[in-house]
Amino acid sequence: MAILVVLLVLLFTKPGFSQKTDSNNTNVIAMRCGRNTLVNQQNFIKNRNSTFRDLRTQLLDQRLLYARAQAISSGDSVFAAVQCRNYLSTDQCVACFDESVSELLICNSGNGGFISFDNCYVRYEDYAGFYNDPYVMADADQTPTLTCGNESASQPTVFNQVIDAFLSDITKATPKTSNFYVASTRQITSENKTVYMIAQCVEGMAQDSCQTCMNSAYDTLNDCFPNTQGRFFHLACFARYSDTPFFNVNQTIDITNLLKGHSSSVAVIAAAVAGGTVLFLLVLLSWLLYRSWKKSKKTEQEFEGAVHYNYKDLQLATDDFSEENIIGKGGFGEVFKAVFDDNNVVAVKKLLLTHNGAKEEFENEVMLISNIHHRNLLRLLGWSVEGSYLLLVLEYMPNGSLDKFLWGTKRGTLNWDQRYEIIFGIARGLAHLHNEFHIKIIHRDIKSANILLSDDFKPKIADFGLARFQPEDQSQVRTKFAGTLGYTAPEYALRGVLSEKVDTYSFGIVTLEIISGKRSTEVKSGSQDTDYLIEHTWKLYEKKTHVKVIDDTLNLNQYEQEHVMKIIEIALLCTQSPASSRPTMSEVVLMLQEGQSLGKRKLTRPTFVNNQDRRIHIG
Ligand code: ATP
Repeated sequence: MAILVVLLVLLFTKPGFSQKTDSNNTNVIAMRCGRNTLVNQQNFIKNRNSTFRDLRTQLLDQRLLYARAQAISSGDSVFAAVQCRNYLSTDQCVACFDESVSELLICNSGNGGFISFDNCYVRYEDYAGFYNDPYVMADADQTPTLTCGNESASQPTVFNQVIDAFLSDITKATPKTSNFYVASTRQITSENKTVYMIAQCVEGMAQDSCQTCMNSAYDTLNDCFPNTQGRFFHLACFARYSDTPFFNVNQTIDITNLLKGHSSSVAVIAAAVAGGTVLFLLVLLSWLLYRSWKKSKKTEQEFEGAVHYNYKDLQLATDDFSEENIIGKGGFGEVFKAVFDDNNVVAVKKLLLTHNGAKEEFENEVMLISNIHHRNLLRLLGWSVEGSYLLLVLEYMPNGSLDKFLWGTKRGTLNWDQRYEIIFGIARGLAHLHNEFHIKIIHRDIKSANILLSDDFKPKIADFGLARFQPEDQSQVRTKFAGTLGYTAPEYALRGVLSEKVDTYSFGIVTLEIISGKRSTEVKSGSQDTDYLIEHTWKLYEKKTHVKVIDDTLNLNQYEQEHVMKIIEIALLCTQSPASSRPTMSEVVLMLQEGQSLGKRKLTRPTFVNNQDRRIHIG
């Protein structure tokens, strides 16, 4: 009933594009109801309605354009998904979803159904398989749907040529994007016309399945030429072209780099990070070996700013990688202190090649950090390969990681000025990663153990192994969860939605750790209170007593206390949900620099990842 009421409201409030576009969503492109009946149809309908409510909440509250939900209580489980075209606003997406839901009501007697409009696609079933592989799970009798308009282009030959090339480009580029979506336009100069085209695969499916579906879109949609409009629908993908605008020109996605294959360095790096495949590693290593052979007269070769180190030199400098030289252990291997003959000191991170995760981490680290120079980001000085070992030579940070100074062996030794400089430095480093480099990089694993300190306690962000590139035109991507619990933004921990704001969230948590000297996941010992640091801080903030968050080992005057309270508020702002209510890291830098308070911004209770969810992800 609630849905119907909302529907009525939405019918009278047409969301508008800023440019006049053909945004009508009246076209049902494909629809089908499941034919099998169920043991308890009533339960199934109840569960279906509950998944629909859940999907709607996700679209609306989290501003998602793709969402999944399931209800498995009392037998007759329901699995449902919705995907909107990415040119839609939240309101438009929800409107399309509501329209789909009301149409699907006629499927009440079967075991599922789907509907596709121009703007969105909704599907529900009594099995979950289509979530992960909609291509394979497409029902056998569901042949793709082709809908052509009824107007022909005035110059069919030119039109066919241009649109055929355009469709070919788009269907090749779509599987290479992180969210399987492309929107683009092309001019037909002789007709003085612009053609608008989009292609989209269901998010989260395998890249090769997306490519197969796109091939089918290419082969099929061709049949509409020289018609000025065409739509292709398959349960796993969608493509549409029209000479009437249906998205704004500023919503197009530049596909030039994606079509260049692996020739541009950005494409190479993105492929390395996205794929993490053995094949890529072999190509990378062959290339490194080729370069090292070409420059064999030199002992060191450049790798985008980093140099190749001789393994024997590293062995010597680390005393054959002795126990005494170990300065740390990470998830993928050990870190050694290396001292060369000229007294130059570096850190060497040794990763075992046979470990799949290590390979991926090596590719990521080499590619990423060799190109980045910023005083708050750890420099990669070089690399080496020996047998099954990969070695990264890093700037040595004499004071090690920040966590030791907060709750480890050196607890209580940092004063407030030093802590503030550390907070500020991390913010600057992240702002650089997000904005000032030529492509956006999301670190994904900002935590106190990944902040290293120089001899004068200046921070540098380390461990880019989990970093992800984000294409400029995509504000969020979905990826497998990776990161550390206690620091991870709820939308990423629970649904894998990744954006730069995931780093903003973790920055907020690290800031609270620096101020409190407590781990984000620490709970008061011997008490009933199981609140994590963020919950604890929020409760104090609500009572305006957040001064109590400050580390007991800090002895602050009134002025300093007020300063710290402002920074606690900034940290809470960074942990707000949805992600869009968090500031960008450049905004955080400004707020810190200018000692700004929150101004008009109101804080709301952050979303806490509850104990049950924590367990799910630890598992
Ligand atoms: P994971 O990789 O599982 O997230 P991690 O980030 O702690 O864990 P590493 O990056 O391998 O793992 O680092 C392990 C420890 O080694 C760090 O906590 C730090 O104490 C030390 N360390 C790492 N790099 C350096 C460095 N460049 N200079 C000094 N100490 C370092």
